[in-house]
Amino acid sequence: MDKAYTKALRERGVRITPQRALIWQVLAESGAHFTADELWEQVRTSLPGLEVSTVYRSLQALQEAGLVVESRLPEGPMVFEARSGTHPHLVCEACDRIFHLEDPQLGFQVADILSKASEEFEIRELHIVAKGLCSNCTMKETRE
Ligand SMILES: [Zn+2]
Ligand SMILES: [Zn+2]
Repeated sequence: MDKAYTKALRERGVRITPQRALIWQVLAESGAHFTADELWEQVRTSLPGLEVSTVYRSLQALQEAGLVVESRLPEGPMVFEARSGTHPHLVCEACDRIFHLEDPQLGFQVADILSKASEEFEIRELHIVAKGLCSNCTMKETRE
C-alpha cells in the first residue's frame, strides 16, 4: 500500500482499512469517475471476498471525510470520484465519457447563485450535467 494514500486518509480522520485505502488509491490515482460496481471490479482482484456493500460503506466514509464526491448523471448510475464540492459534468451521448470543465470554480458559483436566489429552500445537493458530443465523437460524425 502506497504511504502517500494512507496519509491523506489519516489527515482527514478516516479509520484506515485495506478496502478504504485501496478504493481511495484507485480514485485518486485515476482521477476518473467510477460507479460502485466498477470500483468493486477494480479492487476485488486485490481483495478477494470483498462484498460490493463494503465498497458502498467505504465510499460513504470517504465522502464524509470530504475526499470523495458522488454525482448523479441523467439516466445513469451514481458515479464517485476523488474530488470535493459541486462541479459541472459534461457527458458525451455517443461514447458516455464524462468530462470536466476547465474552470473548477464554476460549480461553486452556480451553487452560490442558486442558494441566494432560493431563500426559502435550502439546497443540499446539486448536480450540474450537460449532455452533448465530445470533440472525438464530433470528429467521427463529420468523417462519416
Ligand atoms: Zn467529476
Ligand atoms: Zn464522445
